[in-house]
Amino acid sequence: MVTEGKVWRPNNLNDAWALSQQLMEPTQIVSGGTWLRTQWEGGALPIAPHLISLDSVPEVTTCIHIEKDELVIGAMTVLADIIGNTLIEERAPLLAKACQNIASPSVRNQATLGGNVISRVGDTLPVLLVLEATLTWCRGDEMVNVSVQKWMETSVDAWGILVCVRVPLKREDDFSFFMKMGRRETFIPSLVTVAGRGNYSEETCEITTVSLAAGGGNTSAMRLIETEKFLTEKRCSNSILLDVLTVIQDDFKPSGDPFASAYYKRQVVANLIVSELYRLGGVYNEVK
Ligand SMILES: Cc1cc2nc3c(=O)[nH]c(=O)nc-3n(C[C@H](O)[C@H](O)[C@H](O)COP(=O)(O)OP(=O)(O)OC[C@H]3O[C@@H](n4cnc5c(N)ncnc54)[C@H](O)[C@@H]3O)c2cc1C
Repeated sequence: MVTEGKVWRPNNLNDAWALSQQLMEPTQIVSGGTWLRTQWEGGALPIAPHLISLDSVPEVTTCIHIEKDELVIGAMTVLADIIGNTLIEERAPLLAKACQNIASPSVRNQATLGGNVISRVGDTLPVLLVLEATLTWCRGDEMVNVSVQKWMETSVDAWGILVCVRVPLKREDDFSFFMKMGRRETFIPSLVTVAGRGNYSEETCEITTVSLAAGGGNTSAMRLIETEKFLTEKRCSNSILLDVLTVIQDDFKPSGDPFASAYYKRQVVANLIVSELYRLGGVYNEVK
């Protein structure tokens, strides 16, 4: 049962931080509230006596702009505003694709990027990992930047108030992909989600750089570091791709759930990634 909490609506970041520190009873920060609500209603989290809404805090509200060599996206930017944004389409199209595959239009109008990240199982995380994004947290007078990868390795969900997500401006990728697999076509939590990007030399048929990440369901997203090492500077051939299937299955460590075993998820992730790599010119030509 969802019981009521007192809602605070600070109108700047300092006040929001001060409230989160000074209130004597537990607090919960609320952005869109779509993830929190499912947790409250499902009994996974109790509703805190004090809810701190960020919807009047200008420092975190919708902003998508370029700062030096980074694309900066305010934590409160709703997923619907990321989809179709010109800067995102030009500089981080994979992120738009991930947002397009989350929930339904009504949820995407309310759900924020910050909330998706902090849920730890959001579908944007594999993309943010391969884009080597960083998170900017407000801790009172201090602003802390941490890479998404490093943050995922810690057990603490919130390092303060998430202010924005920073994405290094797009490198010249020769290939990139995002794929989400669920139990039906749309409006379904993912069983697995994968993202990848990299460079490929047509001349030598070698993958010169590659970043891969996978997650989905109740599995937090992770970079597939061993697979990346295995693939880098390898001539992309059918036999290598067969070996990659095994490497990915050892590298990705999902947890099983009532609908799909860990073994099944490993196989699906391996098949999805290899199907994308197969499209790279060399292998395709070899088969032709
Ligand atoms: C019907 C439905 C379908 C869904 N489908 C998907 C899906 O397909 N894929 C997917 O990834 N997600 C899905 N979700 C989950 C959810 O909608 C998204 O993860 C969403 O992006 C969460 O954002 P939010 O603003 O609603 O987060 P909230 O619920 O407001 O917050 C989520 C967490 O982040 C914390 N938080 C939020 N903002 C900040 C901040 N700025 N600083 C510090 N802490 C903060 C909150 O305290 C809470 O712990 C679905 C939800 C629903 C209800």
